[in-house]
Formats: sequence, structure tokens, C-alpha cells
Amino acid sequence: MIPAVMPTYARSELTFDRGEGPYLYAADGRRYLDFSSGVAVTSLGHAHPRLVAALTAQAQQLWHCSNLYQIAGQKRLAERLVELSFADTVFFCNSGAEAMEGAIKVARKYHAESGHEERYRLIACTGSFHGRTLATLAAAGAEKYLKGFGPPAPGFDHVAYGNLNEMRAKVSKETAGVIVEPVQGEGGLAVASADYLKGLRTMCDEFGLLLIFDEVQTGMGRTGKLFAHEWAGVTPDIMALAKGLAGGFPVGAFLATEKAAKGMTAGTHGSTFGGNPLAMAVANEVLTVMTEPGFLSQVERIAKVLRTKLEALAKSYPKIFAEVRGKGLLTGFKCVVPSLDMVERLRRAGLLTVGAGENAVRLLPPLIIDERHVDEAVGIIDGVARAWS
Ligand SMILES: *Cc1c(COP(=O)(O)O)cnc(C)c1O
Repeated sequence: MIPAVMPTYARSELTFDRGEGPYLYAADGRRYLDFSSGVAVTSLGHAHPRLVAALTAQAQQLWHCSNLYQIAGQKRLAERLVELSFADTVFFCNSGAEAMEGAIKVARKYHAESGHEERYRLIACTGSFHGRTLATLAAAGAEKYLKGFGPPAPGFDHVAYGNLNEMRAKVSKETAGVIVEPVQGEGGLAVASADYLKGLRTMCDEFGLLLIFDEVQTGMGRTGKLFAHEWAGVTPDIMALAKGLAGGFPVGAFLATEKAAKGMTAGTHGSTFGGNPLAMAVANEVLTVMTEPGFLSQVERIAKVLRTKLEALAKSYPKIFAEVRGKGLLTGFKCVVPSLDMVERLRRAGLLTVGAGENAVRLLPPLIIDERHVDEAVGIIDGVARAWS
């Protein structure tokens, strides 16, 4: 008999009923160190007092208000994101996939508005992940997710991640833009080089294409900068955000330059729940915390501490770990042993991690961790690897 909850996930048996900072507490009272953060979502840990306060204060004022009216929290958050990024304008939605759908629409509309409706194709990379809607699945092009769901949505071409020549060769008269993740999260923690991202910027300018960065996973401090593309010193024309944006309250956003968004006039896009006052209250507080002096430099510092210790583990257990990958606190191992077995063993030992493509184990701790949490995680990984050797 089919379970009442549609069985589309391979779930573990664990149920959590409470979280605090980087820890989750299971129904049986056992404590787990959460280095998954609900896949890069609970960026400030669980039950952060300031987020709880922001949410409960807003809950007593106003939950929902249609986008037919002004929403003060949206205006405030949008102005702040504009101030902190390349963008001039922001649309709020509810998830990463929706943010990417919006980003794709902006790119197509820009060319249509410029008199080039034929320029609707987007070039994306193999190994990427952009969400589970029909368009975002087609954008990523992963056969295993597309299979059985009919013909993929048209308009997407695919090239190898990190290969600029292949990307240039794929550009045609129908190309509208390029979609790239600065670090491939789901794909297995491959990091785009600064030269690659710079090359994409130059290529897009040369051919009049729009550059879209999917920062749903890499954005909001995850790599030690507010946005991962800042490391390369290049800016996109459009960017998608979601996961860490409101620390666990569902929200997504796509940001664009004024030029790229020129076709996004009244009636061209919308969302019933997008930019809901509750989401905006929490997201504004997340941004306040992340932009306080020293917050991001501490993320960068602790990420280096973690990285050094992970490198040492990889060296100690070459039959278990092939290499350390990723950037900032979006990191982990490419494994020699099956990565999902590793995730399972770590979980039994009290550490929550997430699998990824290319046989990788992802570590995505909340950005508020300190040395004690790093040492605790490293101790657990060391114990599991030793027992396995
Ligand atoms: C998680 C993710 C998405 C999809 O986000 P959802 O909120 O699950 O729709 C899109 N792009 C990237 C890079 C992601 O990591």
C-alpha cells in the first residue's frame, strides 16, 4: 500500500523534534551534529533566537498579504540585496526551482523585448542541478530525473562544466544566455575557477548573452562571501537565491540588472505566496546577522580550519577518501568507498551529512559553527573511517 506521504524520497527512519544551533535532537532524545543544515538551508543553525523573534513578532502582525498591495518587508529586503549585489531589482518567490524558472524567464523576455524572440535557448552544464520543475529539470538535463516525465522542455543545450571552449562552440543565433552554478552542490562539489567565470562574462558580453548564476546553494554566505561569484570578481546579469535566504523559512528570489529585467513589467510574472511578510521578516533578519562586521570573515576562517582538518583526514585514509572538494562551508569528500554508505555510518555515529554526485559526501554546517563543532565533526569522521579501514 502506498504511504500517505508520497514515497518520492529515500528517507531514513529518524525523526527530529527539536533543534538548537548546530544540533538536532531525535525523538528518542539523541543529539546529532547537523552538518547538513537541511541541505544548506538553516544557515544560522536551528532556532536562532533572533530569527525566532523576527518570525514571532511578524506572526502577531500580518501573515499574508497579496502582491496586489505594497509589502514593506519586500521593499526593505530588495533594497538591501540591491545595495549588496550587482542587481538593480529583485523578485521574491518560494523556492530554488521557482527562482531559476524566473531567471530563465527574465533571460528570454530580455531578448524578446529586444526584438529577438528567436533567442530563447539557454546553455547549461552537465552535472548541474537547478530544481525539479519541468523547465529546471530540462535546464540541468540529468537523464535520471527527466526519465518518464515526457519530452524535456525545449530550449536548453548542455556542455561540460568548466570548459569554456565547449561553451563558446555551443553559442548559436538562438542563444539567450548561460546558466552556471559557481560550485556544483548536488553535482559533487566541483568548483568553477575564477578564470572560467571571467571567461563566461567576457563571452556573454561578446555575444550579447545574459549570464545567470544559480546561487541557490552557494549564495547567502555559504562560501564565506555573501555570493560565491564575488570570489571571482565577476558579476552575472541574473542570479537565483533560495536555500539559506531565510534560514529555514521557505523563500526564493531572482535578482537582475535593470537592463536584463527590462521586459519584466506589470503582469509578466507573479506568485501568490512569493515575498510573504513572514518570509520577508525572517530573511531581513538573516541578512542583518550575515552583514554584521566579522560574520562572513569568521565563516571564511572556520571554513579554512575545517578544510585543513578534512585534508588531513583524506591523507590518513586514502582507501576511504579520494579528495577534499568544495569551497567554504560547502565542502566534503569525494569518496573511494560508496558515499551513501559513508553518510549512513556518519549518521549512526551522530553526524548528519548529505550525499552528492560523483560519489561525494557533502558537509554543509550552519555558518555559526566554531572550532568545537569542527573538532566534534572531525572526531566522528575519524572514528568512522578508522573503524571502516
Ligand atoms: C536546491 C537547489 C535548487 C532547487 O531548489 P528547491 O528549493 O528545491 O526548488 C536549485 N538550484 C540549486 C543550485 C540548488 O542547490
